Amino acid sequence: MLGNHRTPGRSNAFDAIGCNHPEESAIRLPLLFTIASTVLLVSMDLPPTVPVPEPRPDIGSQSEDGGKPREQSETRTDPKPDPQLDTDTDAKTENQPPETATPPIEPEDQDILAACLSELTTIGAEYRPLARIDDGNGCGIDRPIELRSLGNGVALTPPGILRCRTAVNLARWTRDVVSPMLAKAQPAERLAEVNQASAYICRKRNNAETGKISEHARGTAIDIAGFTFRSGRILTIAPRQKEPTLNGAFQRAIASAACLYFSTVLDPGSDAAHETHLHLDTLERKGGYRYCW
Ligand SMILES: [Zn+2]
Repeated sequence: MLGNHRTPGRSNAFDAIGCNHPEESAIRLPLLFTIASTVLLVSMDLPPTVPVPEPRPDIGSQSEDGGKPREQSETRTDPKPDPQLDTDTDAKTENQPPETATPPIEPEDQDILAACLSELTTIGAEYRPLARIDDGNGCGIDRPIELRSLGNGVALTPPGILRCRTAVNLARWTRDVVSPMLAKAQPAERLAEVNQASAYICRKRNNAETGKISEHARGTAIDIAGFTFRSGRILTIAPRQKEPTLNGAFQRAIASAACLYFSTVLDPGSDAAHETHLHLDTLERKGGYRYCW
């Protein structure tokens, strides 16, 4: 009995590393020899150096943007947006030189416009198309609309003239962000009106005499001054960067999330010119950059 007894611990340990069965070793020896021979034969056939693929003749070693070798081109970093040059910051215009040439009014793509108007209708927004606006000096909108309601019983007060792409993002932001955030911050309230202070208007940035025209002059910008609730209460946009209240949290949340819908967001924390409203616009920048403060 005792002689046939296998020590469980020892047997299991050897089983684990596969070394205690002579019959298996006998099977494996020829196999190992075969593998070793194959590896040796393969290594003997290898050339002294690994061949390098020829460069493709249609590309060569130059990058597609010409001039620089491809390796240098691929390791470059993307340019950072220069807010002084490439954004409608209503407040940062004082030192800009006068603009000599004004850009033309951007023509609206008919298919994109049709999809945009269709989405506005689906959201439940109320609007009416207006005739082309051309106020000279680059001011104007190819296919303007007057937006009166943002859907779900929320009025835009007063109605504003906008390009559709700004109108639809305003409606999306109101539906997806402002109303749900208000329900968190003020559960007893419901949104009745979004109060705007400026939509389309032919002016320079920051109402300056010189410089680039504002995004408001292209119909892509809107200034939000506050919100009216169904109870009649009004919440105005104000400096609330540090305000430890639900209204402060609400304003910071909707301003931060606005950058998901608009390419420029300027709130009271950005500068003194925006202490009473949120500036939202849909300016399209190279690389899709956004400018949100
Ligand atoms: Zn503005």
